[in-house]
Amino acid sequence: MQPLVTLIGAGPGDPELLTLKAARALAAADVVLVDDLVNRGCLAHVRANARIIEVGKRGGCKSTPQAFIEKLLVLYAKENKNVVRLKGGDPFVFGRGGEEAEALRAQGIEVEIIPGITAGTAVPSSLGIPVTHREFARGVTFVTGHTKDGTEPNWRALAHSGTTLVIYMGLKILEKTLAALAAAGMDPTTPACVIENGTLPHQRQRVATLGTLSGDGFTGPALIVIGDVVRFAREAQTEPKAKAA
Ligand code: SAH
Repeated sequence: MQPLVTLIGAGPGDPELLTLKAARALAAADVVLVDDLVNRGCLAHVRANARIIEVGKRGGCKSTPQAFIEKLLVLYAKENKNVVRLKGGDPFVFGRGGEEAEALRAQGIEVEIIPGITAGTAVPSSLGIPVTHREFARGVTFVTGHTKDGTEPNWRALAHSGTTLVIYMGLKILEKTLAALAAAGMDPTTPACVIENGTLPHQRQRVATLGTLSGDGFTGPALIVIGDVVRFAREAQTEPKAKAA
């Protein structure tokens, strides 16, 4: 039997948004390597005698090197353990799932993928924002604010795309992003929002416009959504807690 790793998307936060297939695979796992973006409620499906290994990597803080994660996955898979790699959202949307799958396959490990609900659609959706409402958007573009080589997206192209922009990992460059889009000709009155910890009880959001939105007080994980569809955001503004002095 070829060693196997199951790469699972845990969904955007709320553990109820895990798929049935993911829950079933978690219940069968011997070893689960879990990212810190994953809500711990998702681990309720894991058997009591299974091993759970936390491999955090949030915003450049404490982190487990990617190579070490891959080494562990290979090691357990080669022991013929039922190995699950659990990642936030969908494993192939800004989650390095592609890199992990490639590295595992290169070592002779079979990789099964169980897709997850990505934050980019679930989080706006849970707030009532229809990201592709056809009267207001031609589509939706997922963008990362944090690239491997530090280069920036083509803001001019994005500003004129007619699509809703959903920016992952964009909190740190929020001001720069808004300024770049405005400089590229995007209407400053375009609705825009920050949503933090979407789908979770401690969700916070701020709805404003391209010209007025600020990320002050948010620490993430957060999405930035920009486009006319943001006018549908229906939840009350819930401001982040004031920073400790
Ligand atoms: N694979 C994940 C994304 C990983 S990148 C997915 O498909 O959703 C991590 C970024 O996702 C965070 O910095 C944030 O921008 C976004 N994100 C993930 N969960 C979120 C949540 N519950 N609320 C807001 N943003 C979230």
